[in-house]
Amino acid sequence: MKHVVVLGAGYAGLKTVVLLQKKLKGAVKITLVDRNPYHYEATDLHEVAAGTQTPSKISYKVADLIDPDITTFIQDEVVKLDPAAKNVQLAHQDEPLTYDYCVLGLGFVSETFGIKGAEENALPMTNVKEAIDIHDHILKQLKDYRSSKNPDNLKIVVCGAGFTGIELAGALVDARTHFADVAGVQPSDIQIILVEAATRLLPMFNDKLADYGVNLVKKLGVNLMTGCLISGIEPGKVLYKRGKDADEESVTAGTIIWTTGVSGSPVVAKSGLKARRGRVMVNDHLNDPEHPDLYILGDVAAFMAPGEKRPYPTTAQIALSMADYTAEDLTERIKNGQRFAKGYSYKSLGTVASVGNTKAFGTAMGHPVKGYIGSFMKKMIMNRSLMEVGGVKELLSKGRFDLYH
Ligand code: NAD
Repeated sequence: MKHVVVLGAGYAGLKTVVLLQKKLKGAVKITLVDRNPYHYEATDLHEVAAGTQTPSKISYKVADLIDPDITTFIQDEVVKLDPAAKNVQLAHQDEPLTYDYCVLGLGFVSETFGIKGAEENALPMTNVKEAIDIHDHILKQLKDYRSSKNPDNLKIVVCGAGFTGIELAGALVDARTHFADVAGVQPSDIQIILVEAATRLLPMFNDKLADYGVNLVKKLGVNLMTGCLISGIEPGKVLYKRGKDADEESVTAGTIIWTTGVSGSPVVAKSGLKARRGRVMVNDHLNDPEHPDLYILGDVAAFMAPGEKRPYPTTAQIALSMADYTAEDLTERIKNGQRFAKGYSYKSLGTVASVGNTKAFGTAMGHPVKGYIGSFMKKMIMNRSLMEVGGVKELLSKGRFDLYH
């Protein structure tokens, strides 16, 4: 019986397992490895950081989706792969795990681009623990304000106004009234500041839609500082320049959060795979070009569609569609000894950024969506990914059904 090892219980890995359990029952043995016993919706981490959702609302147990007759779940840290020997080294097992096929879906880590002090003095937001740490840090700052009266305790700087930074700023706006109560001040005293290098934000959208997004964030009272290239982070201080030769300026804050971009898991580099920022340029079967039995999915993969100049972005939607393809291809290989003829392709259903719980903007099925409709679409997208991986049970307990406000 073929052994499929799946690394990572994120969108790509867990969905691959769920599909293979149905398609290849009796024909495969699956081993799933993740450092956590739960799957989390990485797209919703900003809500946990802001405290507008609890960690349990955005996560569920991996065990709930495992068919024990087919799949063994190992909670452990993946150290590295040896793709030539077809095995995986885990932190707490002496013997490496051997495989016939491996699905690598270990997700992303925060990218600091070597900016001085960023790792030590800014809070990353790439997993549930980090999101909880951000929330705890903000609350501590607010409580400290009651005795210190230091205005920095009321200031939150988000570094980088990509989708993550904008969605986080929106959730922080939603939490502002609660934050003010904790500090004993007015909501308008809580300052939320986005520091961003680019002057034209949201490059995936046309000018009109990008302007709409920028104005929405500003209207909610977020201080959007564009054209400010962050050059360093000191304790409680973000250093930036408004031009290459400009003088260094700074903004101080009790909370500094780092959302300037991501790279693929460091396991990619440790395994000797050719990659850029932890992302392997995969072929149209989503394999590492040198190792046809190794599938690379989600944020560790870079897939270039024919005729395109840039790989697809790293999104949950793409990770899920990569899992669909991988399950089809593996089924075809294991059952019929041939590849799934079509090769991977992807059609985006749209891209929507939330700005708090009731506002959002983006595109859906080629059309711009804004405001309440945008927010409705965003919740439908969230519910769809919950349903696709977790099924009806997780959708019912974790889904977003407050669609009418
Ligand atoms: P990103 O790379 O998309 O954005 C990072 C932002 O930080 C950019 O605007 C960049 O100009 C800025 N930046 C980088 N270095 C800087 C510096 N030194 N000083 C100031 N600004 C700096 O990263 P992200 O927002 O974390 O998103 C990662 C991926 O996840 C993207 O592909 C994104 O589309 C996707 N994503 C999608 C959604 C969604 O679909 N709703 C939500 C979040 C993330």
